[in-house]
Amino acid sequence: MENAKKSYDVIIIGGGPAGIATAITLSSQGISHCIVEAKVEPTRKLGEAIPPNAKPLLKKLGIQHLLEDKQHIAYYGNKSCWGNNQIEQKEFIKGIHGQGYLLDRLYFEKQLRNQVLHSCTQCLFGYKLKKVISTDKGVTVIIENDSENKTLSAKYIVDATGRKATVSKQLGGIKQNLDNQFAIVINASLSVPISHQIIVEATKNGWWYMAPQETKELSLMFFTEQTMLRDKTQYADFLLKELEHTLHISEYTTRAQLNFEGLKIMPAGTSKLDRPFGENWIAVGDAAITFDPISSYGITSALASGYYAGHALISAIDNKSDAMLAYNYLLDSAFQIYMEKLHTQYSLESRWENSKYWITKHKVLVNS
Ligand SMILES: Cc1cc2nc3c(=O)[nH]c(=O)nc-3n(C[C@H](O)[C@H](O)[C@H](O)COP(=O)(O)OP(=O)(O)OC[C@H]3O[C@@H](n4cnc5c(N)ncnc54)[C@H](O)[C@@H]3O)c2cc1C
Repeated sequence: MENAKKSYDVIIIGGGPAGIATAITLSSQGISHCIVEAKVEPTRKLGEAIPPNAKPLLKKLGIQHLLEDKQHIAYYGNKSCWGNNQIEQKEFIKGIHGQGYLLDRLYFEKQLRNQVLHSCTQCLFGYKLKKVISTDKGVTVIIENDSENKTLSAKYIVDATGRKATVSKQLGGIKQNLDNQFAIVINASLSVPISHQIIVEATKNGWWYMAPQETKELSLMFFTEQTMLRDKTQYADFLLKELEHTLHISEYTTRAQLNFEGLKIMPAGTSKLDRPFGENWIAVGDAAITFDPISSYGITSALASGYYAGHALISAIDNKSDAMLAYNYLLDSAFQIYMEKLHTQYSLESRWENSKYWITKHKVLVNS
């Protein structure tokens, strides 16, 4: 068992968009850092739509060229049936930044990883955080893989572990859930190819998100309240009934082969840490705030928070004491804007006055 002690200015736990954006920012200023990622190779994650307003941010990070790869396609907005029975195209193009992108998400994660592999970032892929201990000088971090433990130390640690917020929780942060929205996710195969168009459709018990993956593959997600999901054995029947209630998505799914064996359930609501930083830690991406997927904010916000947290760390290392407070202010302001937009979005749907899902949703958003 190796137990070599390595010391850095910053240790980043998690190599998703938020962790990589932090590493890119630290690299640009020559701050010594290391990124620890549990997965040896990138895995496919959910979420593929990048809105046009992400482009200036990618430019700041110096990674705008990643979107120009032919694996990602120009995207002009979702089709949506929400608030009435019609399906409407929600155009991105009206904004000043032109079109967005529909990502090949696995390929994007690989591209991001390549950015740090060819930089001054020390990469430890295949290692998982075991423990983090706060010390007078910063943090001591124990990481592990199948065959060894390593002990690292740093002035600061970045929590980029995604929804789990593992680092922040170990160092006293508390994750507050604003709702109990969950996603049920299945894949489906089609016999004929369909266009790369995301369709969103509200129903009585929640809403559907249909995203074509490859020409004949579909990713189908149903977003609903946790209380609707008590009996695991009935999830498949529940989904089939919910599909029957759709006016538009069912046009595709009646011709598709639904793969219930790979069905997954995951939290997919809004949550926020009580504070995104402590004496020697800072949280980025989903670890700090998770966004309702209706907003398509997740990837862009993960990249943005990594960028701004990276700059806060650079200032903090330079003994500028208010850097973390400024980061907190930025995140809080962005969160308030998001909550207002979320409220507007859900207020548009009023077709099911007696639905438990929509009553709860409206109540939560009015009270928060
Ligand atoms: C159902 C669903 C649909 C979504 N749809 C969209 C969408 O359309 N558009 C959009 O923009 N966003 C969407 N999102 C959200 C988006 O995918 C996330 O916001 C984004 O991936 C967050 O990036 P991150 O880097 O913070 O976290 P992640 O991408 O989750 O990365 C965290 C990384 O940390 C690693 N890790 C975790 N724990 C440890 C540990 N203990 N030690 C070492 N490594 C660790 C993980 O392996 C992972 O690679 C969706 C999310 C869900 C759940």
